[in-house]
Amino acid sequence: MDQNALHNDIKTLLADINQKMSIYIDDSELSRLNQAVANEWITVSREMIDLFRAAISTSEKSKGAFDITVGPLVNLWGFGPEHNQSDVPSQDDVRKRMALVGYQHLKIQAEPPALQKEIDGLYCDLSAIAKGWGVDRIADLIESRNLHNYLVEIGGEIRAKGVNAKNAPWRIGISAPDQTSAIQRVIHVKDVGIATSGDYRNYFEKDGIRYSHTIDPRTGRPIAHNVASVTVIHKSCMVADAYATALNVLGLEQGMALAEEENLPVFFIVKEKDGFAEKMTARFAAYIAN
Ligand code: ADP
Ligand code: MG
Repeated sequence: MDQNALHNDIKTLLADINQKMSIYIDDSELSRLNQAVANEWITVSREMIDLFRAAISTSEKSKGAFDITVGPLVNLWGFGPEHNQSDVPSQDDVRKRMALVGYQHLKIQAEPPALQKEIDGLYCDLSAIAKGWGVDRIADLIESRNLHNYLVEIGGEIRAKGVNAKNAPWRIGISAPDQTSAIQRVIHVKDVGIATSGDYRNYFEKDGIRYSHTIDPRTGRPIAHNVASVTVIHKSCMVADAYATALNVLGLEQGMALAEEENLPVFFIVKEKDGFAEKMTARFAAYIAN
């Protein structure tokens, strides 16, 4: 294997991903969609269509808890590129932004691949799914070179297959949901994607209240419940990523119900009075190292 060639191919792929999904590149596919007016078809790559289909499917399954059109609200709460405030917006501003949110206002055309928004001001934020998607793209590239033992990670989202350099199955540590670097649990995996969504890294505090970067599109406000983190396993890291965010928004009870319905291995860490508690589906327990 030519390591340099693989390294260069991965670099090229990452640049290509940015050219599709970055909001910091003016003519990326995502930026062109975000700048478009209502009812204008924006030509995109086939891969972008796949990603939008997966995103919308997760929105439907989670009844709107997951929604990539949440961008105007993410911006309002200071977690987007718009500005970085740490002020709590007025309910009036929240209401105005909520009128711009809704995955049902997105239209997909398969041939030629194109996307359209049905209302002006719709703004997509792919942060909750793009890392998982990127991990899958890189894993595909590695597989296409006939390599079947690897671990790919972007910002905590992972695809792991085969064995590690010591010829042993991959062991993945799930972080404790605090500022320490402690490991809460270790799982053994052979060929899966793993994604975690939590409020312990990206948030702001005002008057003793913690505001998460995960927004509930149904209320227009940061989630406020006792979930500290959610980890989801799925063969597609993109799907795991989207569901981790979706279940985080839904909270423990509804999130667990959806996880069972979808047969997903899911691991919740919830905040309790005196520390953290774990809740997991039976399918997740099967991955835990003894
Ligand atoms: P992380 O980025 O820490 O891995 P997530 O995958 O949960 O965490 O993505 C969170 C990001 O997704 C937020 O910073 C925001 O940009 C966006 N987002 C926030 N709320 C939602 C939501 N309900 N549905 C989809 N995306 C969201
Ligand atoms: Mg996510």
